[in-house]
Amino acid sequence: MEKAEKLQNIRHSLAHLLAASVMDLYPETKRTIGPAIDNGFYFDFEFLQPISDTDLAKIEKNMRKILPTWNTFEKSELSGEEAKKEYPGNPYKHELIDEFTKDVAKVSFYKSGSYSDLCKGGHVENMKEISVDSFKLDRVAGAYWRGDEKNKMLTRIYGLAFENKTELEAYLEQREEAKKRDHRKIAKEQDLLVFSDLVGTGMPMFTPKGNIVRNAIIGFSRELNNELGFGEVHTPNFNKAELFKISGHYDKYKEDMLTVQSQYSEEDFFLKPMNCPQHTQIYASRPRSYRDLPIRYSDFANLYRDERPGELSGLVRLRCFAQDDGHVFCRKDQIEEEVSNILNAIEKALKLYKIDYWMRLSLRDPNNKEKYLGTDEIWENSQAIMKKLLDAKQINYRAAEGEAAFYGPKIDIMAVDALKREWQISTIQLDFNQPNRFELEYTDSDGSKQTPVMIHRALIGSPDRFMGILIEHYAGAFPLWLAPVQVKIIPVRTNHNDYAKEIYELLKANNIRVELDDADANLGSKVRDAKNNKVPYWIVLGDKEIEAAKVTLESRDAGQLGQMSKEELVSKLLEEIKNKK
Ligand SMILES: [Zn+2]
Ligand SMILES: [Zn+2]
Repeated sequence: MEKAEKLQNIRHSLAHLLAASVMDLYPETKRTIGPAIDNGFYFDFEFLQPISDTDLAKIEKNMRKILPTWNTFEKSELSGEEAKKEYPGNPYKHELIDEFTKDVAKVSFYKSGSYSDLCKGGHVENMKEISVDSFKLDRVAGAYWRGDEKNKMLTRIYGLAFENKTELEAYLEQREEAKKRDHRKIAKEQDLLVFSDLVGTGMPMFTPKGNIVRNAIIGFSRELNNELGFGEVHTPNFNKAELFKISGHYDKYKEDMLTVQSQYSEEDFFLKPMNCPQHTQIYASRPRSYRDLPIRYSDFANLYRDERPGELSGLVRLRCFAQDDGHVFCRKDQIEEEVSNILNAIEKALKLYKIDYWMRLSLRDPNNKEKYLGTDEIWENSQAIMKKLLDAKQINYRAAEGEAAFYGPKIDIMAVDALKREWQISTIQLDFNQPNRFELEYTDSDGSKQTPVMIHRALIGSPDRFMGILIEHYAGAFPLWLAPVQVKIIPVRTNHNDYAKEIYELLKANNIRVELDDADANLGSKVRDAKNNKVPYWIVLGDKEIEAAKVTLESRDAGQLGQMSKEELVSKLLEEIKNKK
């Protein structure tokens, strides 16, 4: 059995055990449903008296007491009528039973120990497989019956469950570390970005410090775009509906798009969810010859998606964000080189950011070809090109059938952060569809009209979202070139302020992001403050430094670096910033 299926069965069986424990301790409770979820399970109840997190220990202890009395799960079948008798006065179970018996005469029950419940199955073979220390009740939350806010609010008890104690402890440790690294928390401590209820959820505002980081990320993507031969364009934030009707977004993405009204026209406008349709219009603005290709456009315009408010979370999912987006229009014989160069740039970026990654080659489903546009030949060719490239580069990838876009295969880049969490950050997609829909063409060497291929690509994806990932990956300790404050100058006492000011001006004149902490405060607390804010370097200046006309440099990562001259200091810092160390 697959590990995932085994875990699923363990977790669902434990949901039964949780309900058994609750019914034992609180017999008046109405039980509802309890599925397995990521990392564990939950069960929803209507309690007579509300319970809280402090009651969980008691319920968990009782679970451990019941566990040894359970063995296998015995299945039985009851008619709707009989089934309802098992749950007197429980409208939730009655609703489910009515629903299930619409199509079938009998519903199934599963019993282990002395506890039985309405259930479709999916348990461990024997409860003895579950060790007592591999699970833990986690927290209590409110949840509407069937997730509908018009329904009654129930009490949900969440539990964590793994195959063994070691895995449970590893998960708890990772979760604790993730809490410490939460980008929303660190962004607040370091004053990087702000969310405001008045502005709206999912719409971050970057402070001057945060915008330095964001601009540095964009700046590096611009450097890569330059090397790849992309020309940066600037495009409007909203467009006529007609454009998205032709591109196909209107049909496929309408629910995710935000509308805009004009008082001067009846026409519908949409805030754009993607840049591709606009880029086709720049391409189409003049005649193109085979010699002009590839033509490459990059764009950092804001994009807008109407995400459900409940799904928005920090920088990870936003309603307004940019992408380091780009589109290549090329001939078929140029695909290989273009994709290869883009892959190189992505690898270069991820190495620089010190982020691990793997790639997913997303292919069409060979048993469901009618889901996709384009001929077999085009698909076989383009899939073979991408496969060949990944093999040649010895990139760690997994092929996934059925994951392609409807218009072409793609390579999805999955970043793996310091906590081993995976984030899909960007894709390279071959598109044989939009160029046709927009009737794009170029004149070939023989004078015939041909349709170019379109390659969609992003290097690190959204700079906004990527910044959230980086904050957690680095635990707030940005490398020097990204750090909002690169150096902090700390005079020992106020009589050292003049010299400190001189060093401050010197670094500032060299475009180094420097702060001077000349407050009349205790030296220890000033140094602590620099450390807490994860500033890469600080310089403590006192009598010794003034006498020697030198500075003493200390590094967040390398500790004490000793005394050096002002010139040495400037050239060391500039060198490191330039090399993005
Ligand atoms: Zn079950
Ligand atoms: Zn695109």
